[in-house]
Amino acid sequence: MPRLRKDSTTKDRKNRKKGRRYYSQKTKKLSCPTVKRQRAKVLPPQYIAFKEIRNQIASADTKYRFGQKFIKVSWIANQFYCEKQLDFKMRDTPLLSQKAKDIADEQDAKMKIGSEGHDADSIFFQKVTEEKVWIDAFRADRAEPYRLKEFFELCYHNGVPIAGQIDEVELRNGKILTLWEFKFRGTMRLYDNDKIQAQVYTYVLQNMGFDISEMKIRLECFPPEKKQIALIARRFLHRIPIKMNAVVEELRYDPEKTKQNLDWALQYWKSEREAVPTSHTGKCKSCKYLENCNESPLKKKPQTAQTKLLV
Ligand code: SF4
Repeated sequence: MPRLRKDSTTKDRKNRKKGRRYYSQKTKKLSCPTVKRQRAKVLPPQYIAFKEIRNQIASADTKYRFGQKFIKVSWIANQFYCEKQLDFKMRDTPLLSQKAKDIADEQDAKMKIGSEGHDADSIFFQKVTEEKVWIDAFRADRAEPYRLKEFFELCYHNGVPIAGQIDEVELRNGKILTLWEFKFRGTMRLYDNDKIQAQVYTYVLQNMGFDISEMKIRLECFPPEKKQIALIARRFLHRIPIKMNAVVEELRYDPEKTKQNLDWALQYWKSEREAVPTSHTGKCKSCKYLENCNESPLKKKPQTAQTKLLV
C-alpha cells in the first residue's frame, strides 16, 4: 500500500497544488508551500561567488590583449598548439593565397563537423536555468548523479579571469565524478593541447569550490562520420563499441604543471611577451598563415657546416 501524506485530504491537496497558505484539515496546523519552496531555494555559496566574479568582470576596466576582459580556456589550448597561429587569428589576418583559402575552407568544414558532433546528443538533455543547475549540483539529498552538458565555469588565476565551457560533467553534491572532453576528428588523434585544455577545466572547477578529489578526466575522440552512433551508444550502453574505433584517454590531474602552463599562457594576454611560434614543422605545413608567418620553423635556413681552412 502506498503511504499517504498525513495531511492529505482533498482540500489540503488542492491548496498545496495552488501554493496557498492553508490550515490543514488533518494535522490542524498552518501549512505554507510557498515558504517551503523558498526555503529549498537556498543558493550555494559557490554560486554566489561565481556570480560575483561575473559581475566584477563585467564592470572591470582592466583589459587584456585585443581588449579581452577574460581569457577563454579554448584560447589557452590553442596557445599550446601554436601561439603565433592564434595571434594571427585574433588579429583577423587576411590570407595571402588561394592555397591558404583552401586550407581555411577545409578547416571550417571540419569545425562544422565538430560542432555537429557536440550537438548530436542534445536530445538527451533538457535546458534548465543556471540557478537550478547550481542548486542541484550541491544538493545533498540526491543519490543519483547529474550529467551537465556545456557547463560554464569561471575563476581567477593570479588576478586574471579565465572562463570555459566544459563538454560534459557528471557530479553529485558538489563532487565532480567525471569530466568529458569530446573531439571529432578524421585524424583520430588526441594532442597535447587537448590534454592541457582538460587540465585547465579541472583547475577552474577546483577554484570554483567543487570537490575534484575523485574526479576522472576522460578525453574521447570519435571519427566525425560516426558521431551520432558513437554518442547514442555511449549514452545507452555506457560504453563505446569496440568497432567504433574511438580513441579514449584518461588523464591524471596535475595541478602544478597546470599552474605553470597557465602562468606561461597568461604572460601573452598581459602583453608581457610576444607570441611564440611552434617548433613542429608539420603544423606549419597545414597552417593557413604560412605565407604571413616569418617565424615558421619551415622558413629558417638550415645550418651548414662551417669547415675552416688554415691559411
Ligand atoms: S606557419 Fe607555423 S609557426 Fe607560423 S603560425 Fe602557422 S603553425 Fe604557427
